[in-house]
Amino acid sequence: MSQIDSILHQAPLSRNDIVYLLKVEGQEKKRLFEAARRVKSQYVGKRVYFRGLIEFSNICSKNCYYCGIRRANQNTERYNLTDSEILDAVRFAYENQYGSVVLQSGEVSSPAFTRRISGLLRKIQEISGGTLGVTLSLGEQPEEVYREWLENGAHRYLLRIEASNRQLYQKLHPQDQIHDYDNRLESLRTLQRVGYQTGTGVMIGTPFQRWEDLADDLLFMRDFDIDMVGMGPYIEHKDTPLYKYRDQLVSEQERFQLTLKMTAILRIMMKDINIAAATALQAIDPVGREKALKAGANVIMPNVTPGMYRNNYKLYENKPCTDEQAADCTNCLDVRIGMVGDEIAYGERGDPKHFFVRKNQ
Ligand code: SAM
Ligand code: SF4
Repeated sequence: MSQIDSILHQAPLSRNDIVYLLKVEGQEKKRLFEAARRVKSQYVGKRVYFRGLIEFSNICSKNCYYCGIRRANQNTERYNLTDSEILDAVRFAYENQYGSVVLQSGEVSSPAFTRRISGLLRKIQEISGGTLGVTLSLGEQPEEVYREWLENGAHRYLLRIEASNRQLYQKLHPQDQIHDYDNRLESLRTLQRVGYQTGTGVMIGTPFQRWEDLADDLLFMRDFDIDMVGMGPYIEHKDTPLYKYRDQLVSEQERFQLTLKMTAILRIMMKDINIAAATALQAIDPVGREKALKAGANVIMPNVTPGMYRNNYKLYENKPCTDEQAADCTNCLDVRIGMVGDEIAYGERGDPKHFFVRKNQ
């Protein structure tokens, strides 16, 4: 048996196995993607779940070194959608049978923000008769806030660990209390404990990252028993501190390929979780997200933020679809997903099977 076949047939994968798989090329890479696709079709099927992504505000209190909407970036125009604009986007997603929405923004912690989100969550329940899935991606918040939002109708939460290696995390963030690695980890634990379908993820191809870090990221997700993952290539932004290390990065194409391999390996390791095809993939390759579906992803997050605001939610350069209206994206996705042999699960929430298995243990 060849080395790739013996690795693919053994469980659980070790750190060395994962590093080997991250480096495969040619026929071996093809074998990796085929194996992931087989696992996907056996455990989660060919159905792709949509989450309408609403990036409702780029106001942020943090200063992550990689992010274009960090507080200190004065070259970005700040916006905050009104409640009625947000709810229009929710209606659009609901009427187009997206099944779920994601509310995402910069990190803000205040009683007024907590109340606003709770109010929106109740309205979303009203609009959809409680049928629409709701994911929040609003950063680190106190436990009571997570609980309040859960009670008001959110049931999934995405909080990327960004880099599971503490030292690497510290190189990507300022050294202060609000960017503390332990706090991030604790927030993720809290989300899981209070009862959310819990999602995390990392950026792939950041400065200072080693092969072993990426392998450890996947082991972290497995050991954490995570339900959902959204991970994507790091893409530099000129108005951020990390931009000065751009010459040390592997090429965008390599970051793209690494993301596909991370997706495939994770699908083999965690068969019944939801894995999102990262939007950042599309900034590198126009059919990047479809390629991720072929490598094992089963969730797509079409952007339903009103077009006029999208240009200002620039986390990185070349963000796709910033000048299109939401409907254009739906039409093009329908055709593209069909082309890779998958189908859109219209009107289905698409909760990760893993969550229910984990809850029943
Ligand atoms: N503020 C919340 C948080 O940080 O969890 C949610 C919004 S934040 C913009 C969502 C994700 O964008 C982050 O978790 C980070 O991984 C990603 N991101 C930020 N800057 C990026 C970049 N330059 N390249 C790729 N992804 C980036
Ligand atoms: Fe703010 Fe999130 Fe960007 Fe960090 S990644 S600066 S918390 S929006």
